[in-house]
Amino acid sequence: MIRIKALGVSEGLAHAKALVIREVDLTVIKESITDVVAEQKRITDAVEAAKKQIESLRDQTAKTIGEAEAEIFNAHLLMLEDPDFVEGMTGLIADEKISAEYACFCNCENFQQMFRSMDDEYMQARAADIGDISQRVLKVLKGVADNQIDAINEPCIIVANDLSPSDTAKIGTKPVVGFITRVGGRTSHSAIMARSMGIPAVAGMGDKADDIADGIELLLDGGSGEIIVLPDAETLTVFEGKKKAADERKHMLAAYKEKEGATADGHRIIIEGNIGTPDDAVRVAELGGEGVGLFRSEFLFMDRNDLPSEEEQFEAYKKACQAMAGKPVIIRTLDIGGDKEVPALGLEKEQNPFLGYRAIRICLSQTDLFLTQLRALLRAARFGDLRIMFPMISSVEEIRNAKHVLQQAKDLLRVEGVDFEPNVKVGIMVEIPVAAVMADVLAKEVDFFSIGTNDLIQYSCAVDRINEKISYLYRPLHPGVLRLIKMTAQAGNAAGIEVGVCGEMAGTRGFAPILCGLGITNLSMSAAAMLAAKADLAAVTFEQCKQLADKLLEAPNATEAEEIFSAWMD
Ligand code: PEP
Ligand code: MG
Repeated sequence: MIRIKALGVSEGLAHAKALVIREVDLTVIKESITDVVAEQKRITDAVEAAKKQIESLRDQTAKTIGEAEAEIFNAHLLMLEDPDFVEGMTGLIADEKISAEYACFCNCENFQQMFRSMDDEYMQARAADIGDISQRVLKVLKGVADNQIDAINEPCIIVANDLSPSDTAKIGTKPVVGFITRVGGRTSHSAIMARSMGIPAVAGMGDKADDIADGIELLLDGGSGEIIVLPDAETLTVFEGKKKAADERKHMLAAYKEKEGATADGHRIIIEGNIGTPDDAVRVAELGGEGVGLFRSEFLFMDRNDLPSEEEQFEAYKKACQAMAGKPVIIRTLDIGGDKEVPALGLEKEQNPFLGYRAIRICLSQTDLFLTQLRALLRAARFGDLRIMFPMISSVEEIRNAKHVLQQAKDLLRVEGVDFEPNVKVGIMVEIPVAAVMADVLAKEVDFFSIGTNDLIQYSCAVDRINEKISYLYRPLHPGVLRLIKMTAQAGNAAGIEVGVCGEMAGTRGFAPILCGLGITNLSMSAAAMLAAKADLAAVTFEQCKQLADKLLEAPNATEAEEIFSAWMD
């Protein structure tokens, strides 16, 4: 028996035989050609064939896994349809008189190089997609069959160097119970897809994967990142016990899809999902979300060199509303700056970006940008219960100024005779400590509050939320943070408006009862966390939630509050 530890990237336990994926030899050598036209035709034919493969993969994935997971293939199709990408290959053939295979290889290198040299982490990761589509074209050119994954028909744990998005999606349609990759981490495509497909996965195994032979018995823990090769009888019994309990919990949680969020004695807490793209709303709806509590609209503006037009934004917001079929969809206006870059705005680098020119501050000074977004939102509001939320509010003036621009957007649409919904609820993010302290005043100006605990913790504890060196100071259960949440909830409750939490705290295991006890009415989190939050609430009464919250509020420091919470969880 050998125990190997790597990075757990998708939670869950799996027990099966290993299937080691052999790398297909796609080496290409530089070959000269004379018939340029014929070689260029080989490229365009191969691209067409690759597109057909991707289309069928997309349709199959949408049917068996979900629309959101199939989206990656639309991105691949777009890349393959990009004239620059195809002309990169045909141009190389014409200029350098090289074979289609070699042109495909060089073009892939050029594009990957370009993506890798970009500042943005997301764009750098796109190099993997270029590799994926280029490999597909190369395989068609070389007449290589797609791969081993197609032939899988019994349960197995895949061991591979890396898994392309295409391979990962295919896995979802096969009896694969887990996978292990030598490279990659939590943010690689395969890891993200594994989490949304609910397949346990471990990444970053490196050479340790050499200990795993094809067909050998494996145990995989996608939470801790542990792999056990050839387990002995005792280990197997313990593991099977854990797996049974985990399967039972998964099964138990599935029952909450149809249920509303509430404590055991019926105190309602609305459980909603956070999204970054309209397609994410599909997943929120599938997992029983009672609305979208936070649509981070800035994702429509990032990873591109231009700004999305009013029309493009309108379509995106409308799509999210339609996916939620009448349930509330809170769309936050642009929250850029800080750690979120929008290249098209050419914002200057700042000494203290989190305290600088960001979010509502940018929108109120660049009103054209703001007006375009507000017009798109008002138009999309005809297709559902769309609500508008302003981020980073620190004063009444900012709310009034933002509402003034909203009124301007309505006036313009009216004059132009464009259809829109004038009665849209307007709320704010409470994420700056002074907003929490002044919540009673701010509550008179808006229809709802949503507490952004990610920033509220950062600003109240003076701890940069992305600085690893001081992450020990980032303590969600700091009684000072809890008091600010309570203050906001009390002010909102007194004014009769909803008070949500949409930061990471909302979806943290076991925190729902605390926030409920503090007076929060809505919790918005990643879709994957919603069922557990409903289950956590259903296990307690409202009175128990209040008692727990009171104990934490009275704790003298974060350490004692954390101890109280751990004891409560046991
Ligand atoms: C927050 O600050 O808690 C929040 C939800 O917004 P973001 O993480 O996008 O800043
Ligand atoms: Mg925030």
